[in-house]
Amino acid sequence: MKIIKVESFILHVPLNPPITDAINSPTHWGLPGVRIFTDEGFVGYGYTGTCAYGDKMITDTIDGYYGPVLLGKDPFMVKEIWDELRFGKMHWIGRAGITQMALAAVDIALWDIMSKASNKPLWQYLGGHKSKGIKAYNTNGGWLNWSQERLLKDISSYVEEGFTGVKMKVGKPNTREDYDRVKAVREVIGKDINLMIDVNQQWNINTAMTWGKKLEEFDLFWLEEPLNPDDIMGHKKLADELNVPIALGEHVYHKYSFRDYIHAGAVEYVQVDCTRVGGITEWLQVAGLAAAYDLPVVPHVGDMGQIHQHLVGATQNAIMLEYIPWIRDIFVEPTTVKNGFYVLPEMPGASTEVIPQFFDKYRVR
Ligand code: MG
Repeated sequence: MKIIKVESFILHVPLNPPITDAINSPTHWGLPGVRIFTDEGFVGYGYTGTCAYGDKMITDTIDGYYGPVLLGKDPFMVKEIWDELRFGKMHWIGRAGITQMALAAVDIALWDIMSKASNKPLWQYLGGHKSKGIKAYNTNGGWLNWSQERLLKDISSYVEEGFTGVKMKVGKPNTREDYDRVKAVREVIGKDINLMIDVNQQWNINTAMTWGKKLEEFDLFWLEEPLNPDDIMGHKKLADELNVPIALGEHVYHKYSFRDYIHAGAVEYVQVDCTRVGGITEWLQVAGLAAAYDLPVVPHVGDMGQIHQHLVGATQNAIMLEYIPWIRDIFVEPTTVKNGFYVLPEMPGASTEVIPQFFDKYRVR
C-alpha cells in the first residue's frame, strides 16, 4: 500500500455552553488534523485537540514538512515513518508542542489506515484487553465557571446515569472557595463515588501543600496537575507528603519526560495523551514504561476519547477513561458510554472518521 495524498484540515466544533478551567476558556474544540489517502482506497483520519487557537501552526507543519515526506510511503511502516518525521527537518525547532501535536495527527491517521485495512477496530488490531468495556469517569459536570448549584446538579445527574467517578475543576483565585465546592460535591455524591480534582497547573508548591492536605479529608481519588508541568521536583514533593495520589501527563510531550516523572516517583496516575506525545506509537511506549513501574494509565482525552478508548481497550495497565461528550456527534462511530462503561467500537479503524456533513460544517478554511 502507498500513500498518494495528504490533506490537512481544521475543524472548530462549538461548545454549548462555553466552559472554563483555571487556565483556558474555550468556546470551540479545535481539531487540527489530516486525511491520508492510499492507493488501495483506505483513507486515514488523524487529529489532535486544541482550545481552537494555534491550529494553523499545526497544519502548516503537516502541509509544509510532514506531508511531503509521507508521499509514496507504506502506512504499515508507521514506526519508521515516525522516526523520519521526528528526526527530520522540524527537529531543530520542535520536539514538543506544535510539531509533536502535528506528528500525533499524522501517526493516528496511519494507525487508522492500518486497522481499517486489517478490518479490525484499532483496540483489537493492537491486541485487545477489555472486551467487557472500559470504566468511564465523567469530567463534564465540574467546570470552574459552573455555579455551585449547577455543579451539584450536573455531577449528581452523572452519578445517577451510572458513572462511578467524576472530576471537578479547582483553581479559583480564592482557594477557600475550591475547598467549599469540593466539600459540597462530596456531600452530594456520597462516599462510594470516585472524586478527582483538577488544578490545571494553577497552584504553586505552597498552595498545593497547604490545600492538598486540607482536602485529604474528602478522600480524593487523585489531585491532577497541581503545579507547572515542568516541575518534576515539586510534584515529587507533593507525592511524598500528601495522602492524595498525583495525576498528570496532559502537558508532557514525550517518553523521556514521562521516564523522569515516573522514575522520580512524582506521578501516580499517568495521563499520557496520544494527541500530545506524537501519537499512538509513542503512547504505547509510555504505557509500557508505566507498566514496568506498576503504575495505572488513565489518559487525558485531547481527542475526547475517540482514539483513547481503543488504546485503553488494548492496554493491561490502563484502568479507566475520561468522558467528555463535546464532539462525539461529528463522528461516524461516536464514543458511547452505558451504565458508566465505554462500549468498545466495532467498526474497523481508530474511530476518527468524521461524518461528511459535519466535516464541511465545522471546517475552517
Ligand atoms: Mg486536566
